[in-house]
Amino acid sequence: MHRIVIVIVPAGMGRKAAVNEGRLKPAIILVADRTLSGSYKVLFEGIFATMQTTQVPQAVMRHLISPRMAVDKEGRAHAAALGIRRLEAALINAGLDRKEVICTTPEALPRLLGPWVKVVGVSSSDPLGRGMSNTTTANFWKGQLYTRFWTGRMMEVICQAKERYNFKVIGGGAGAWQWINDPQEARRQGFDTIFEGYGETTGVKVIRDMLEGRSAAEGICEKATATEGICSIVAASLMGIIELSRGCGRGCGFCTMAQKKMRHLPIDTIIADLETNVAGGIKSVVSGSEDFFRYGGEGVKVNFDKLHELLETMKRVSGLTFMQIDHANVSSVAQLSDAQLREIRRLLTWEAKSDYLWVNLGVESANGRLVAANSTGKIAPYRAEDWQGMVEEVVEKLIHNGFYPVLSIVLGLPGETPADVEATAKLVEYFGRKEAVVFPIFYEPVRADEIGSKERFSLARMRRDHLDLYEKCYEINFRNVPKLFWDNQRAGGVPLGKRTLMRMLGKTEIRAWRKTFARLREELPLQTLERGRKSCGFNDKVLIGSLGELN
Ligand code: SF4
Repeated sequence: MHRIVIVIVPAGMGRKAAVNEGRLKPAIILVADRTLSGSYKVLFEGIFATMQTTQVPQAVMRHLISPRMAVDKEGRAHAAALGIRRLEAALINAGLDRKEVICTTPEALPRLLGPWVKVVGVSSSDPLGRGMSNTTTANFWKGQLYTRFWTGRMMEVICQAKERYNFKVIGGGAGAWQWINDPQEARRQGFDTIFEGYGETTGVKVIRDMLEGRSAAEGICEKATATEGICSIVAASLMGIIELSRGCGRGCGFCTMAQKKMRHLPIDTIIADLETNVAGGIKSVVSGSEDFFRYGGEGVKVNFDKLHELLETMKRVSGLTFMQIDHANVSSVAQLSDAQLREIRRLLTWEAKSDYLWVNLGVESANGRLVAANSTGKIAPYRAEDWQGMVEEVVEKLIHNGFYPVLSIVLGLPGETPADVEATAKLVEYFGRKEAVVFPIFYEPVRADEIGSKERFSLARMRRDHLDLYEKCYEINFRNVPKLFWDNQRAGGVPLGKRTLMRMLGKTEIRAWRKTFARLREELPLQTLERGRKSCGFNDKVLIGSLGELN
């Protein structure tokens, strides 16, 4: 998910933008990496764009999975990642001329760069390929993740232009923590400053300094969620992402949202963003929240009335087909009754009926105590010892009321034992008997101290029971993801030809994954025994390969 990172209140606002020979010459250019600059109809398509370069040839990625986003004659992106859209809106709200700031795409970027540029803001969700879900697949395949590959390519272009025109480069986005933890690489890529967090507060000063030619600190971490300063976007957001809430605050050790308290956007702002998207031709939208069902709530408590009010107001906006939910929390769903969930489902059905309204929930492990040890607030307000039963109940409840659970588990959580892996495997078998999919993810720390102590889980630490569990999840997904994906694409208006081509690509991927599992199975038994003697304890996406088996 992409988050806003910087807000600018530049000096000299209101000055006329340089326009020469019919070309726009903006002082500030905002651009997201290529995976966040594609033209996607539904969220799943965007997720697939983060595969490995060896899994999908570039031509297929560029033209089929992630076709380029259209720009107007001045180079403005038709739709842009929400983070840079928010930034653009904040700039304009602060008085900057609309011609001085532009959200563009990596393809249109070169023609906008010149001596008139003062700041280039780059946003990426996974610039160095170290995001937890992405590193999981990177363990199995050679090559590079497209997020990293394309960000690197774009930074080369920006670096060359920077040498000629001497502008400042600032990086941000949901993956900013990766540059913060690797300042040498950030410097090598041409960044002057990395800004991590929401930008409506400190980001203002940072960009003002840059516009006035002053340097800012190399790494800046903003802890606030800055919801007070949010301005409605002025043009469509990528995939029609509509931000409902910011932060989460449940304290998971592997998540950058762990310590950011959840704050909710006012309904007026949400509706304004929704209307802007509809006016920009976006028909299917995605909720931007770490916990959809917690909208309007206080702390970890849900507030059904507030969520209901929001959804009723959203439903009055005409021209939308359907809304995808993305993330939610098990303990938030547990607080809602069947009748409330049914009502929410009703309100989420717009013009196009979607049979698979999926909700992504982090289960992490069957062992509630292990989950609580790594995610202090994930189970609250419930008890860790009730976790497994609660997860099963929530999955049943969601299915029963018209939702489709997309679950994730984490392999290699710190403190995990073989007994935990076995219990989680049984839980996954239970999911397999339901209408659900399960994505196994390798534990990847985001905190500098853990990164240093190499707590990450990888193929090298995988035991045979991990592989069995991983494969079990994938076999469920090979069966169920294609149906879900097909339905989402249909509801999102993806043409039949593209759907069919992607299904064929998925079948190839499934064959490749099964071959990989078979190879690993041959290699793992001896290593497993060896590891078992040495140690028992240790810790949304991996959808790839699950596209093909549509019944
Ligand atoms: S519940 Fe989800 S969003 Fe919240 S801190 Fe944990 S992983 Fe992050």
